[in-house]
Amino acid sequence: MEEEGYIADFNGIEKPGDYFHRLRDEIQNYNEKFHAFNFIPEKLEEGFPFSVKDNICVKGVETTASSRILSGYLPPFDATVVRRVKEKGFSFIGKTNMDEFGFGSFGINTDISARNPFDEDRVAGGSSSGAAVATALIKYHIAIAESTGGSISNPASFCGVVGFTPTYGAVSRYGLIDYANSLDKIGLMARSVKDIEFVFDIMKGKDEHDSTSVDRKIENKKSRKITVIDEMISGVDEDIRKSFDSLLGKLEAQGYKISHTSLKEIGISGPVYYIISMAEASTNLAKFSGFKYGLKVEDFSLDYNTFFTNARDAFGEEAKRRIILGTFVRAASVRARYYQKALSLRALLIRKMREILKDSYILSPTMPIKAPKIKDVEKLTPVQNYMLDILTIPPNLCGFPHISFPYDYIDGLPIGAQVITDHFNDKALFSFVEDWENNFTYKFKYNLGEI
Ligand code: GLN
Repeated sequence: MEEEGYIADFNGIEKPGDYFHRLRDEIQNYNEKFHAFNFIPEKLEEGFPFSVKDNICVKGVETTASSRILSGYLPPFDATVVRRVKEKGFSFIGKTNMDEFGFGSFGINTDISARNPFDEDRVAGGSSSGAAVATALIKYHIAIAESTGGSISNPASFCGVVGFTPTYGAVSRYGLIDYANSLDKIGLMARSVKDIEFVFDIMKGKDEHDSTSVDRKIENKKSRKITVIDEMISGVDEDIRKSFDSLLGKLEAQGYKISHTSLKEIGISGPVYYIISMAEASTNLAKFSGFKYGLKVEDFSLDYNTFFTNARDAFGEEAKRRIILGTFVRAASVRARYYQKALSLRALLIRKMREILKDSYILSPTMPIKAPKIKDVEKLTPVQNYMLDILTIPPNLCGFPHISFPYDYIDGLPIGAQVITDHFNDKALFSFVEDWENNFTYKFKYNLGEI
């Protein structure tokens, strides 16, 4: 395993003695404007900088998943991914901002929203908003992030960085504050896919603490074929559609064979995802009851309803909505109609998509829109909000590995495309995006920590 990309550059350059001290101050200053971090340590150790999404445990460091209900929580252990990269000499630079518990697509379900480095009036995407902003701000840095239904691809696309979501099970989830256990994947964001490949090799593999982690060989079965699913491009904004067509032209010129197909099940992936993810989220949040976890309500003389209302009042509005809807869809009287049906539709979608992925990649725009203004997102209804995840949900729902990479800039804003491959073929994605990077230079407005 060889270092390449920014990690190799960084380790090969002589740094001033006070480099890490200055880097910390610079990050702290910029954080006042961009709010990428929920926490920055007082002192940085030497090593290649890495950040950690705030729903992943770092020993002794406040970990809140951007929720008030977890304020003050100091994990007594490192998540497996954190332990593994620390052991390789990487330097922890902070916990990144996010939508509360991962519930959201725009990074606004948190106390202070992260801002898009390409335009501060716009959202950074979500839920891993801070991870993407930190990557777009800091030159030498890798972000450990997490995706349930698009939380890596979406902000990576809006902030112009590379975002990798691995095959479900390839990376241990031990130490992750669960959103939806059958969907959560810990992945990475960086300025180059080469750094992602290097750190993925460190993080991946079986972990005795996570029974869903597996020791499967990660393949690199490359393909020269790309399939575009019509239902994944029909609803995207006109400017995105145009620029995606020109991307297809470029890839064709590079020797890929492009074909189009229809897959009508894409249309049901949104409702299926939200039913399953909310059902699981509602059970995961049950533990924040004020007894062992969550806000402590010390007054045990309160009646049942008052006690739990007080203990659970710290949840934000979106978390409350998901507890209610998630509890509903798995209630005995309607379970067969919603939750169980969603599970079988997920299995159907996996089968259908695997047929396409047998010998080709699936490519689509990552998001149907450019990064919207914060004030416009605040006007969306919950359902309008959920529907904007329509392109990132299919691979996440099915556990397929995928990468969002920047491929164009429209009105000064970065646009990402999302490439998907079959389970445990993650390395083929690295090859695909590396080929792309050999012909395309990503743009960044900031280079904190430049040497
Ligand atoms: N926007 C999606 C949701 O709110 C995905 C979030 C995520 O991947 N954590 O569920």
